[in-house]
Amino acid sequence: MISLSNLDPRAPLVLDTRELGRRPGSMHGVSRTVPAPADLGIEVLRVPEGSQVDLDLRLEAVMEGVLVTGTARAALEGECVRCLGTIADELEVDLQELYVYDDRDHDPDEDDEVSMLQDDLLDLEPLLRDAVVLALPFRPLCRDDCPGLCTECGARLADDPDHAHEAAKDPRWASLATLQQDPQQDD
Ligand SMILES: [Zn+2]
Ligand SMILES: [Zn+2]
Repeated sequence: MISLSNLDPRAPLVLDTRELGRRPGSMHGVSRTVPAPADLGIEVLRVPEGSQVDLDLRLEAVMEGVLVTGTARAALEGECVRCLGTIADELEVDLQELYVYDDRDHDPDEDDEVSMLQDDLLDLEPLLRDAVVLALPFRPLCRDDCPGLCTECGARLADDPDHAHEAAKDPRWASLATLQQDPQQDD
């Protein structure tokens, strides 16, 4: 098996599991605040790079490796897809992943799906990325009933709920409206 690139034990999202001593049942809590990596999220909604991500995790040694469970909390920043207004929100996601010891035998066909420990270090970043992306709405809105933008002038309708244009009073429209209101009667 090709060896993976070595993890840096000082990287904020790399956790050291050696304290667990590979003894099934031993546990270790980890609470740390780390700077958000770049591109954490989706294009229209993401955790700002370098902002705080609060991790509250439990590492538990099991037979095959180390089970990580816990939560990550972070700020979100983005754009409403309807009105392009700023979205500022918070996100809390659940994390759960089994990291398998890298010196155990594995079915090579399954290696792609398995998270591996590397020299008893684990990389939380792929897990965090997946959890954040899965938790984000596909089309974020500033609020559920965001009215969006005026199709005439592009104004934000939320700022100006009584927004109206004079178009309806254009004489050409007025005559058309009259025609529509007074259809020919056949009987
Ligand atoms: Zn909006
Ligand atoms: Zn308008």
